[in-house]
Amino acid sequence: MAFKPANNIQDLQYFGEFGGVNPSISDSSTYTFLSAKTMFDTFEGNADGCYLYSRHSSPSNLYLGEALAAMEGTETACVTASGMGAITSVLLQLCESGDHVVSCRTIYGGTYTFLKNFIPRFNISTSFVDITNLEAVEQALTTKTKVIYCETVSNPLLEVADIKGLSKIAKAHNLKLVVDNTFSPLSISPKPLGADVVVHSLTKFINGASDTVGGVVCGTQDFINDLRNVNTGAAMLLGPTMDSLRAASILKNLRTLHIRMQQHSKNALYLAEKFEADGLKTVYPGLASHPSHNLFKSMMNETYGFGGMLTIDVGNLDTANALMELMQHKNLGYLAVSLGFYKTLFSAPGTSTSSEIPLEEQHAMGLSDGLIRFSIGLDADIERTYKTMRKCMEELGILEATMV
Ligand code: PLP
Repeated sequence: MAFKPANNIQDLQYFGEFGGVNPSISDSSTYTFLSAKTMFDTFEGNADGCYLYSRHSSPSNLYLGEALAAMEGTETACVTASGMGAITSVLLQLCESGDHVVSCRTIYGGTYTFLKNFIPRFNISTSFVDITNLEAVEQALTTKTKVIYCETVSNPLLEVADIKGLSKIAKAHNLKLVVDNTFSPLSISPKPLGADVVVHSLTKFINGASDTVGGVVCGTQDFINDLRNVNTGAAMLLGPTMDSLRAASILKNLRTLHIRMQQHSKNALYLAEKFEADGLKTVYPGLASHPSHNLFKSMMNETYGFGGMLTIDVGNLDTANALMELMQHKNLGYLAVSLGFYKTLFSAPGTSTSSEIPLEEQHAMGLSDGLIRFSIGLDADIERTYKTMRKCMEELGILEATMV
């Protein structure tokens, strides 16, 4: 039976302590105990339903975690203060000194530089590979490899990972497959396809309001227990804890994600088709010209489409900057990093979200100067948006310059 992530969220029932239709917010950092013995047991992890201290867990965070676990089809989840809080905790939990990671080479710049520059301090090394080439992934494995890391749809190049294929490799070599699903919530569910751990930056589509950063780790109960372990857990000891008030507000936004994703995807597909027909170099997984279009289709929960992210290449950085400034001037969106907002957001990743990646590596992975990454908004009239965008491109001579 097809996996239905939005139904799983819908079917959860929450009540506040006075019968409220939203759960009560736990606005406390610490919790009292009637007996000292229960406090001790809670410390030891042997007192279910008791709370000790909110860096460990809190009712509001558990509610949000439960909803995100339902969405991803995992046993449970642990919410964090940011996407990087989730990613770094998972990698530091799974890897010890001497271990090795095989990672997709086109990933969010923060994750890339964590793997490349930060985690080697702990003697953990990474090989960056073309994740769409399963042979290259297998060849990069060593006896020390513990993790295969990828993004379902990569930032910013929108390469698509073959989760089933990667999972087969991970299982054959007893590794953990960790998948960042930030670009494709609801559209693709990595866990049923074989991922062991699914992470998200909640900052993006899931919260959808660009008013907070947040993250989540979705996995087995055992793994989440390990993360929260008071003696050895990265989520406990590094302190990437989400605030309870935020957990409550993100939970409320999560409930409209299924409607928002359909609109983001519908608008992005419309624009991608138009841009491509205009002769612009356009990358969008929903286009038949995308090298992994069929792979995406084979993995997707169809209702939610191919997602809200697309890229175009306008040839060089100056033109990209001029177009973004003009589009912002015409109120078509904002020149801003991040994604998943009701307005369209655009940025040139080479000089922003991927600027941590050295220039020659950017070129090797195909990240060109003229690339503009769009997070397409919820515009009610996308035809009007397209017409105005087209005018901007004509004004700057882009369409003529790139016509085929
Ligand atoms: N993963 C992806 C794919 C991202 O695009 C980002 C941020 O841009 C992150 C993770 C990091 O998330 P956060 O900014 O919430 O720490």
